[in-house]
Amino acid sequence: MSTAPDPTGSATEAAETIATPILIVGGGPVGMVLAMNLAALGVASLIVNSDPRPRWHPKGSTHNSRTMEHYRRLGLAEAIRRLGLPQDYPTDVGYFTRFTGWEIARLAMPSEGEKRRAVRAAQAADQVPEPILRCNQMYVERLLYEHLRSLVPVDCRFGWSCVDWQDHGDRVTAIIEEASSGRRAAIACAYLVGCDGGQSATRRKLGIRYSGEGPGGSEAYLDGPMVATHLRVPQFYRAVAAPRCWQYRAVNREVHTNTVALDGAGEFIFNSRLRSTDEKPDSAQIVRRFLASVGTPLEVEVIGHSTWIAGRALVAERFGLGRVLLAGDATHLFTPAGGFGMNTGIDDVANLGWKLAAMVQGWGGAGLLDTYESERRPIALRNTKAARRLGVSVSEVPIGAAIEEDSAAGRAARGETGAYLANFQPEFDSLGVQLGARYDNSPIVAADGSEAPPDDSDVYRPSACPGGRAPHLWLGDGVSLFDRLGRGFTLLDLSRGAAETRALEQAAVQRGLPLTRLPLASIAARDLYQRDLALIRPDQHVAWRGNRLPEDCAGLLDRVTGR
Ligand SMILES: Cc1cc2nc3c(=O)[nH]c(=O)nc-3n(C[C@H](O)[C@H](O)[C@H](O)COP(=O)(O)OP(=O)(O)OC[C@H]3O[C@@H](n4cnc5c(N)ncnc54)[C@H](O)[C@@H]3O)c2cc1C
Repeated sequence: MSTAPDPTGSATEAAETIATPILIVGGGPVGMVLAMNLAALGVASLIVNSDPRPRWHPKGSTHNSRTMEHYRRLGLAEAIRRLGLPQDYPTDVGYFTRFTGWEIARLAMPSEGEKRRAVRAAQAADQVPEPILRCNQMYVERLLYEHLRSLVPVDCRFGWSCVDWQDHGDRVTAIIEEASSGRRAAIACAYLVGCDGGQSATRRKLGIRYSGEGPGGSEAYLDGPMVATHLRVPQFYRAVAAPRCWQYRAVNREVHTNTVALDGAGEFIFNSRLRSTDEKPDSAQIVRRFLASVGTPLEVEVIGHSTWIAGRALVAERFGLGRVLLAGDATHLFTPAGGFGMNTGIDDVANLGWKLAAMVQGWGGAGLLDTYESERRPIALRNTKAARRLGVSVSEVPIGAAIEEDSAAGRAARGETGAYLANFQPEFDSLGVQLGARYDNSPIVAADGSEAPPDDSDVYRPSACPGGRAPHLWLGDGVSLFDRLGRGFTLLDLSRGAAETRALEQAAVQRGLPLTRLPLASIAARDLYQRDLALIRPDQHVAWRGNRLPEDCAGLLDRVTGR
């Protein structure tokens, strides 16, 4: 062992010194996808994750359409869609007094197989090439991890923690430590990104706080301390006669719980309320609560517990300082209603990935990284607010005293609760939240004077007005417009040869900016984009559009890259 240069300013023994452009702290879904986004643009990174293996405790089960588009861009969507529930398993949400009692309401939703068939039959201008996927995060994270380890530019170190770092203004140095051996390495990097979750030590060291709203202070379900318990219940489907659900929600005067199917073969994540944040999950009590939800005795194996807090809508006041940036739960904490938390984080690093690549490859300007916060923080505020709104309505479900009675009063109570619950569909599709993020006022978006569609949590209105997600189009044979976009910027040319594009291509070459020209002789595409040319960013947002190139192509590229 040698004594490495003293990168943090503290006396540190390290076996080696490693230089890498980007150090990613945290190998949850957000950190892993950031490393993949960087690798896709040819940028190396080193990622550390305290746990030696990817998470094997169930958490979120919703990968929304935007996240799936990002996975498609990385070539992973197909494989991810095969994980978790069987292809013919419905994704219905069923509300029951008890799962073997009365069914009060059901939000019917398609199986993965049905969604795939619908996509194959979709119109050319359909905007959802990648429907929302219900699959637990733990399965997806395992696949992400295996893929990450196959990527040459990624030095993937699970079982290692970042123990300290310093931002020197022109570089960052850090110390990482392997838990199993105590071995240390010194890291010298251009940027450090804290994807280290809700307890982010990176955020704390930066002195950045979350602000926003905490739980409402009631004792209701989805308002305050919760426990997610991983259960194996082999007899579940034999005992519960109701048509299969992806989520089984029990709503009665004794328990209000949520049981989410993981593999369709008897594994579940069971979410229930704790009395206080100090309460330790008690397996025997949680099993009793689960059985009270089912309504009949069953053999239950508890695999593990994990506690979490519902009802939060917290966003970090800054998304980084200097050369140290934050992403994912390190910048925002959601209540899981709607399933927006991880999805917002994956969209964060679609935004951040190309900007970091631009900086280390030299085609990003001095103002580019600042736009990460100015573009993404408003989206975090918007999405946490939408989730909290949905979460509050879940906490306020009316549960009449007679809800389990076989009587007129019972029928009336179930009718009232059922009518309330039948309005919950937005919790499960919110397409406006998923696809409607826009960066209209960003200094790196060239507005064209057209009006952006209004922001609506439920509805996504495709528009190539600069700032929004590039509208989608099927090009035939299952090929999406998104499959044809370059890894860097894309100049979409719908002019059928009428527009001269060389000046922009030359300006890109001069700057070392990766630009792909994509000519498409498609009337449908021209109708959708409303202009002959559109410049699409690496994160698939429209940066500029027009019928001819601007006089100053270099100026346009300077603008969209933050110079
Ligand atoms: C019950 C529940 C249901 C949910 N449902 C959904 C859903 O359906 N859809 C959705 O989008 N979101 C959902 N979420 C939220 C989602 O789980 C999180 O938003 C997501 O895991 C955040 O990912 P992340 O990578 O930012 O952080 P994390 O997943 O927390 O990963 C952070 C990683 O950093 C590591 N780490 C921390 N410190 C260090 C260090 N110093 N050095 C090295 N490694 C470190 C940790 O070990 C961890 O592996 C749900 C959450 C809960 C609790």
